[in-house]
Amino acid sequence: MTGEEAVQPCPACDSLDFLSLCKGTDRLYRTTDKEFRIVECRRCRLIRLYPQPTPQELPAYYPTQYWFDPGLSAADKLEEFYRRLVLRDHVRFARRAIRDAQAPGVVLDVGCGGGLFLHMLAQGGAKVAGLDFSLDAASVAWRRQGVPAVCASLAHAPFAPGSCAVITMFHVLEHLYDAYSYLESARELLHPGGRLIVQVPNAASWQFLLLGENWSGLDIPRHLVTFRTSDLEALLDRCGFQPVRYKYFSLRDNPAGLVTSLMPGLDPMARRVRAIREGPRTRLFKDLLYFLLVAAAVPLTLIEAACRAGSTVMVEARKKP
Ligand SMILES: [Zn+2]
Repeated sequence: MTGEEAVQPCPACDSLDFLSLCKGTDRLYRTTDKEFRIVECRRCRLIRLYPQPTPQELPAYYPTQYWFDPGLSAADKLEEFYRRLVLRDHVRFARRAIRDAQAPGVVLDVGCGGGLFLHMLAQGGAKVAGLDFSLDAASVAWRRQGVPAVCASLAHAPFAPGSCAVITMFHVLEHLYDAYSYLESARELLHPGGRLIVQVPNAASWQFLLLGENWSGLDIPRHLVTFRTSDLEALLDRCGFQPVRYKYFSLRDNPAGLVTSLMPGLDPMARRVRAIREGPRTRLFKDLLYFLLVAAAVPLTLIEAACRAGSTVMVEARKKP
């Protein structure tokens, strides 16, 4: 906490007092060599990235193809098949929330990326809409998946108050400077009987405990905050939400996250983003090795999830009356 620059306060409680847990840099996409610390607020215990990158600095840490745009090659088709398979957890969780909600309106996915999740939900009859910061992502969602999507922030989304039955935010909150105002906007857009679904990396996971700064859930420097379930509950409560259901296992995120933590250089997305040059045989070999390791990681990640220590947590919440 030395140096000339002013100490950045905790985004949850404004305390200036913190404890350093570990430090690291962008292991996954190598957008920078700059070192960041992971610190814990001494007052409310929220874990965050320190120093927080400025809004001017942040875009440089996001690779351009951060979302999925399926091509027509056999490898791309195989990848889409895999993505559909592992997304079924998310789709099932959302379908139950839609049933529970009994509210009219659309299912709005915030941070919709390429739109595959919404496409799968729409196949089950749901009325869907997507929202993303990236114009390219919103355009891919519409062109490739037939999902109506807008490029906007939630606070300025072109939807009427109370018009959403369900709002989903998968891996969104940890990227935001002000998660509080984002959830307030979500509350306004939701029908009184509507449901909110959020998923974030879980700081109270065995993977963070064991792997420290090498845990992919920290995703330095893109994740500004890393929540425990209790931090998320405090945030939801402040924003007028009451949790009703939790899930600590995600077939898409938990096993793959473990393999990526241990071998970031093998991660298929990281290899694509970093434009690693490899022949078709090497690419196939590395992809197969990665997916074999992911399959091997499934039993362990099921056990950690059963102990509520999975590397991600998904929460369904209702609006408090
Ligand atoms: Zn705090």
